[in-house]
Amino acid sequence: MSDCIFCKIIAGDIPSKKVYEDDEVVAFHDIRPIAPVHFMLVPKLHVASLTECNESHRDLLGRLLLLAPRLAKEQGLETGFRTMINTGHDGGQEVFHLHIHVFGGGATLPKT
Ligand code: 5GP
Ligand code: ZN
Repeated sequence: MSDCIFCKIIAGDIPSKKVYEDDEVVAFHDIRPIAPVHFMLVPKLHVASLTECNESHRDLLGRLLLLAPRLAKEQGLETGFRTMINTGHDGGQEVFHLHIHVFGGGATLPKT
């Protein structure tokens, strides 16, 4: 997707502070963090949101979720973290390339 900002980050055309990369997934810090540690897990495959996911994305979704606690720990979130997936305009999604926010640190997060 030529006009997708996360595809440009994945391609290396826009710089980012990467925390992880493998053949299917990248993780990088959010440019506008809402907590002392805030990064996003992003599939290299362009999928707009959870709404566009189907059975063929099952392994990828599992891989993304299983990476969350591992990377959270590596980033110093030893005692807990929050995950967030914004889906669609009314779900507060700004970037239409699927991603999982992982954030925390500093203090216990308020209940939602
Ligand atoms: P969404 O609301 O779609 O779940 O979240 C998109 C996130 O991407 C926002 O938290 C925003 O700060 C972050 N973001 C937008 N553009 C960039 C960028 O160019 N680089 C990085 N690292 N994060 C970005
Ligand atoms: Zn994309």
